[in-house]
Amino acid sequence: MLFIKSKSHALTREILNSVHPGDELRTLALKDPKLCLKVIRELEKTPGFEQDLLIQPKYTSLARTGRIADSLAFILPRLDQVKDNAEIAGELFSGFDLIEPSFLSGGDSRILADYAVSAIKNIKSFRTKDIAMKGLDFFIRHDNPEAFSMLMDMVEMGQISELDRSDPAYRFLKGKYFVNTGDNISALETVCSLLKYTENAELSLKVHAILKELKNSLHKKYSRKDIVPEDILAFARIFSEQENYRKAADILKESLDAVPDKNKNPFLLQLGLIYSRMKNQELSIQYLSSILDQPFFDENSIKAAAGLIRELSDNGKVLEIEDPVSKKIERGMKEASRNPESGHALGTHARLILAELYYHQQRNNQSLKIFDDISRTDRSHFAPKHLLLFAKLLAGNGNYAEAVDFLSEIENKFKDTSLYTESVELMKSISRDYKKQEKSGELSSQELKVKEFLEDTLSRKKLINRLREGLSKTQDQFYGRLNAFLNRARGMMDEDMAEELEELLILSDIGVGVTSRIITNIEKDLSPREKKEPSLLISYIRQHLVNVLSRPGTGPIDASSPKPYVIMVVGVNGVGKTTTIAKLALQFQKEGKTIMIAACDTFRAAAIQQLEIWAQRLNVPMVSHKEGADPSAVAFDAVNSIKAKNHDVLIIDTAGRLHTKTNLMQELEKIKRTVSKQLPGAPHSTILVLDATNGQNAISQAKQFKQIVDINGIVLTKLDGTARGGIIAAISEELDLPIKYIGVGEKAYDLMPFEPESFVDTLLKGNSH
Ligand code: GDP
Ligand code: MG
Repeated sequence: MLFIKSKSHALTREILNSVHPGDELRTLALKDPKLCLKVIRELEKTPGFEQDLLIQPKYTSLARTGRIADSLAFILPRLDQVKDNAEIAGELFSGFDLIEPSFLSGGDSRILADYAVSAIKNIKSFRTKDIAMKGLDFFIRHDNPEAFSMLMDMVEMGQISELDRSDPAYRFLKGKYFVNTGDNISALETVCSLLKYTENAELSLKVHAILKELKNSLHKKYSRKDIVPEDILAFARIFSEQENYRKAADILKESLDAVPDKNKNPFLLQLGLIYSRMKNQELSIQYLSSILDQPFFDENSIKAAAGLIRELSDNGKVLEIEDPVSKKIERGMKEASRNPESGHALGTHARLILAELYYHQQRNNQSLKIFDDISRTDRSHFAPKHLLLFAKLLAGNGNYAEAVDFLSEIENKFKDTSLYTESVELMKSISRDYKKQEKSGELSSQELKVKEFLEDTLSRKKLINRLREGLSKTQDQFYGRLNAFLNRARGMMDEDMAEELEELLILSDIGVGVTSRIITNIEKDLSPREKKEPSLLISYIRQHLVNVLSRPGTGPIDASSPKPYVIMVVGVNGVGKTTTIAKLALQFQKEGKTIMIAACDTFRAAAIQQLEIWAQRLNVPMVSHKEGADPSAVAFDAVNSIKAKNHDVLIIDTAGRLHTKTNLMQELEKIKRTVSKQLPGAPHSTILVLDATNGQNAISQAKQFKQIVDINGIVLTKLDGTARGGIIAAISEELDLPIKYIGVGEKAYDLMPFEPESFVDTLLKGNSH
């Protein structure tokens, strides 16, 4: 005790005399927070000591000794003094995680919330995604809707850096907020859009839980007949989201008579949309157009008009100008856009609908004029389909540059919409036309730039398509069967079904180990009810596959340094080593690197010739000896040559006769030894090429190779020709090796850096887009 006291005295003196007392204290706070608090207590009493220097060490020491509440109570009133200190901001708000409701009484948490909001508002460094999300979560847990909505407004206005209002985790919290405030309609609007978001299993689980809760509480109200129109709508909406359209329609129709006229629009709209989804065009049109007969004009009328245009122009039909429904739409929208009561946004939407109608009536100039007007002032109201229609009209008038501008916006923002395909088609046709014009020398320099941009975009698009096409067989096998199964099992998953799922997963080659882990986790994490939810099951399977495939080192080789970078490619004969080497060379060339190839598969003359042909095509220098030469002598020359030429990457082809295992081992060893002697550290990567069509055999090959040589990663080839692409999960799991690239064809550009997420998505999403 005495010792500590004397130590703190001594330390205090030392700190008082030091050049940077603040730094000393901060270090002490991290090393020994208890002692730091003692020292601070003495310094607080020392006249003339700059008290500001104590703020951070004191706050930190308090927090580090577990006194979170004290720490916050101390720091919160002093936020102004730490204005620019982002570090403290971060620490302070991570305190949210540590505070349990029991820690702070209701009143305290409210005070804390007020401080937090004012801090976020006033101090720039707080305005980050991380801190805002912690705040939102905190306000939900502590039931503070006022603070939540203040922070939410900031997110909606884009004032929080890196936090987009479409962020799923954010939308989920927002949905909860609406549930808590009793705004069930908005809650559904917010949460239902997350139903299709299956990428995060934990989040899906929570979304389903919210829906269930809402449904139960609305069901009670509904059966007691003690329910307001808004909640009837919400109740029906849940059924319609769950694709139980008949039940949804029944609920709405049953209540329709009792709803006062001025509240009828949303009911009629939902009925119209439900019948549209049920493909009952007649009833859909009947309900939707009845809204346009109502004297009450609102957002529902706009949506009804949009729905009507969709129904009427189905399959690209041209709308008759004289058609009574068309006329009704035109009249209604004109009125709405003129009516000052409808408000600016509503008026703009009405005009957009009008533009859409004119487009479908082939009144192109009228349509173009409206789009043009709105694009100058209210571009933010454009939905993706408006961008596309406008672009089509512009292209029709020969205004390609502007059309491409709008199309690229679709490309950037709306990738997953069906309009995207149409947009790409239009890009292609513009690009073709440009090519013709270029030949006759009609393009200005600006138009040439647009043309280049188009070609770039289109070639990127092609590669992604090739992956989709390449994987289509695996996809049929995997997704097709999984989906069929889940549809069959919908709502009635039992023990037998679970066994069937297990069998299906094993049959799709993802391996016994991965399958049993997925099944065990489903059993463990999901309740019996949740297990009946196909989208949840899919998202579970997705998450586990992504986890299995995301090992450290996954993805492309970074061959930037050291220079030269040496890659040795190994694998059994016929798996695609030589082809992969050509593909890698092309990839590196695209990165601006200079490449050299070494033909160390000297066993057959044909092997050397094959590599030679690729080298010539890609214009890459190749080092080779004649058939039967010592492979390590080739490697020796190659390393000398690349050093002399100062190129970036050397790729070494090797022979793969596994049946002469001892020889192969000696041969690979010797190549490695030779290379590393001349170039310490080389080879920097040893890549094993495996053929996906070999299924389980690929795994046993890999195991043999692992015994012979250290492998850094896998290239899996021929995914295009097989339904057994699921093997990739088994390979990654059983071999504990990262997948670097995948091969999806025989051409040099048919190689893709491996990305677990997009790969699994392609497998699980089917061919629908
Ligand atoms: P190596 O013996 O390991 O060098 O294998 P090769 O590179 O000579 O390839 C053997 C065969 O597989 C050739 O016919 C290649 O065209 C073909 N091949 C290689 N990679 C792929 C691929 O990703 N997809 C398809 N469909 N064929 C491939
Ligand atoms: Mg070969």
